[in-house]
Amino acid sequence: MRSTRQRYHIIEVLRETASHPTASWIFERVREKCPNISLGTVYRNLHILKETGVIREIKFGKNTARYDGNVESHHHLVCLECGKLEDVVCAVHPEMLRDLEKAKSYKISGYQMEFRGICPACQGRSRNASIA
Ligand SMILES: [Zn+2]
Ligand SMILES: [Zn+2]
Repeated sequence: MRSTRQRYHIIEVLRETASHPTASWIFERVREKCPNISLGTVYRNLHILKETGVIREIKFGKNTARYDGNVESHHHLVCLECGKLEDVVCAVHPEMLRDLEKAKSYKISGYQMEFRGICPACQGRSRNASIA
């Protein structure tokens, strides 16, 4: 019973944000509603929710995993400076998919793209830093 309620709050926190938070961020928010919850419980629930396809886990190399309450097909744009992660709507050229299917003899059912760069705020910061 208790774990169902905790899981519900985790999903709710994730659905309410577009920031693709980390587990510890989610933990801080869920704790406001379930003061007795532990970080370990949050991790365990995130794992179950990910395995059952309710949420999505995003991992960039060695970086801390981020979580996404939006499981619809979409892509991500990440800032390498501050870690800001946003959703991108962007379609792959159908010809590219056809070429890939031909080359690998696959029937491709989905794809996920990850764009990396420096966000406008961080570009501004490094410009100011080089002036100073
Ligand atoms: Zn940034
Ligand atoms: Zn997303």
